[in-house]
Amino acid sequence: MTDEQMVPSYSNVRERMEAAAKLAGRNASEIELVAVSKTYFDDKIERVIQAGQRIFGENRVQEAQQKWPALKQKYPDIELRLIGPLQSNKAADAVALFDIIESVDREKIARTLAKEMKKQKRDLKCYIQVNTGLEPQKAGIEPERLDDFVGLCRDELGLDVIGLMCIPPFDEYPGPHFALLRKLARRNGLKELSMGMSGDFETAISFGATSVRVGSAIFGARK
Ligand SMILES: *Cc1c(COP(=O)(O)O)cnc(C)c1O
Repeated sequence: MTDEQMVPSYSNVRERMEAAAKLAGRNASEIELVAVSKTYFDDKIERVIQAGQRIFGENRVQEAQQKWPALKQKYPDIELRLIGPLQSNKAADAVALFDIIESVDREKIARTLAKEMKKQKRDLKCYIQVNTGLEPQKAGIEPERLDDFVGLCRDELGLDVIGLMCIPPFDEYPGPHFALLRKLARRNGLKELSMGMSGDFETAISFGATSVRVGSAIFGARK
């Protein structure tokens, strides 16, 4: 048995990514899997690390602070990504703990992050979150304001913006949202597309995702 097979749900997601990539004429090795460990505290996280997984996503700074400092010390090559909305008063903690921020979603937090990164001399890669479904309750920049916002983040604030992230409306077919995100990224010269979750990562891969964020399909249903 390989290490990967020690966590069947994890090897299953890896296999499904392989199959989806193949179907899309892509190489699975160029698609990153972000294992979303939010709400899980048990030793399954460590078993998934031992199975070979190195990129993890959390959506709350405080929760991540409880779990990850010890694990990052034990496994120094772990890459931790913030995938949830960030409050300004948590920006310093986020910059200290995370390696990538996927949820840069408004001017105020972009400015605060840029200031904190300079202060801590930590240059985190960032994704800009786009509200492709124009949902009022959802975080993210509106598509029509994106180009200006990329300019602000990249050129004025000097953030290392590498890509875009979206969470499509849960009750819609996600394809058009993924296609829109890809178009917006191309237009802005951004390579990385973080899109696709447990329910739709195969679709996202067919639309060019370079990074999928999968939680429940690996760790089980959340309470
Ligand atoms: C929770 C979460 C995920 C993972 O969701 P699953 O459906 O459990 O795979 C992905 N992205 C974000 C932003 C999340 O908050």
